[in-house]
Amino acid sequence: MGKPIKSYTLHNYRTIPPISLLSGEMLRDIEIVGKVLPFKTNNYVVNELINWDQIDTDPIFTLNFPRREMLEKRHYAAIENLVDRQADKKILDAKIQQIRLALNPNPAGQDHNVPYLGQIKLKGIQHKYPETILFFPSQGQTCHAYCSFCFRWPQFSGMSELKFAMKETDLLLSYLRLHKEVTDILFTGGDPMVMNAATLVAYIQPLLAPEFSHLRSIRIGTKSLSYWPYRYLTDTDSDEIIRLFEKIVRSGKNLSIQAHFNHPRELATDAVTQAITRIRSTGAQIRTQSPLLHHINDQPELWAQMWRRQVDLGCIPYYMFIVRDTGSKHYFEIPLERCWQIFRKAYRQVSGLCRTVRGPSMSDHAGKIQVLGVQEAKGEKVFVLRFIQGRNPAWVDIPFFAKYDPKATWFNQLQPAFGEEKFFFEEQRGKITDTKPFLFE
Ligand SMILES: *Cc1c(COP(=O)(O)O)cnc(C)c1O
Ligand code: SF4
Repeated sequence: MGKPIKSYTLHNYRTIPPISLLSGEMLRDIEIVGKVLPFKTNNYVVNELINWDQIDTDPIFTLNFPRREMLEKRHYAAIENLVDRQADKKILDAKIQQIRLALNPNPAGQDHNVPYLGQIKLKGIQHKYPETILFFPSQGQTCHAYCSFCFRWPQFSGMSELKFAMKETDLLLSYLRLHKEVTDILFTGGDPMVMNAATLVAYIQPLLAPEFSHLRSIRIGTKSLSYWPYRYLTDTDSDEIIRLFEKIVRSGKNLSIQAHFNHPRELATDAVTQAITRIRSTGAQIRTQSPLLHHINDQPELWAQMWRRQVDLGCIPYYMFIVRDTGSKHYFEIPLERCWQIFRKAYRQVSGLCRTVRGPSMSDHAGKIQVLGVQEAKGEKVFVLRFIQGRNPAWVDIPFFAKYDPKATWFNQLQPAFGEEKFFFEEQRGKITDTKPFLFE
């Protein structure tokens, strides 16, 4: 029995039955904010995940629908004013575009990670760390839902020059032939699992050839287990997806599904349990990750619950991220010290099997920086940090120190501790260029 997906966006969300429970104010906020921050949801999220009785605070509603506070007041007022005046569409669109650009749609210099093949810029690839490339298949540049904290949203809202999409597999294969240091490819998006099985096969099958034996792992980053587990159960091509996964595993490569879960409720339905079981039966592994988000999951107990449930289901907790400096950052952000407190309070109460998780971590231009904690050293209160991943692998795992700042929410707000002028890696970071994205020693 197939379960048909029904998508809702700004254009048809009023046909969702329980939407009548919303106040006029909330509906208006959706209309105003939704013009700037695109949103999309579906019948599974609406019927099985959102608790419509507590809509004012419901975390899944907050993840899927715009709320007033997600826009800064002045931005909200500007759009509201144009809507009330029934301004010309051109003027409205220009304002929308201007606000979107002000929301830092391309944080952490992502356009700097795009590699070259001779003179050709490979817009569908990012190569930031030597052993792993990210691949953005062009058909996967949309999502099951559009999260307003997500730095990928320019891809969905037609800001096309920021798209990191690639049409041809050929360029990818040529690049891999020249880069034997690459052991991992991560299919990302958007969400690659919005592609149909035939397209996924076309991208993945060639990678299984013997000449790519240096490629040891294929990872697929996806929100589908949270927002459309039927992708693996009852879609018309679900069986083909499962057969593809089996084939990857039989070829001797690791297949790791990097599943994005933000809240324990996404792990509580029969459908997600069945989907996880079915994926695991292929020999694929499922690793989990999520940003730490104000209004959604900023309590240690929620993380402990998530990690325990994931391990119960045979998944491997992998990353806790600090929310990026983009989109509705001001709505979701949490000071670094509090991120660390939430992490350690969750971490200390779970089994060692859950403690495969790493975090809280920030993806900065220089690498993935973990907040190890707040300490006192040489009479100064400091953040202790380390690279989990670095542009230069030699930076990884060296503890370093930043001046304590109770308000800081991102690495670029931190200063070196002990009156030093620079962090230890800053000189080398200056040497990173478009054609030389990472350094060795
Ligand atoms: C996190 C990340 C990876 C993968 O790093 P792992 O530590 O292997 O999970 C690769 N590329 C980019 C740009 C990343 O942010
Ligand atoms: S890429 Fe992930 S976080 Fe971003 S909108 Fe899609 S589902 Fe949400």
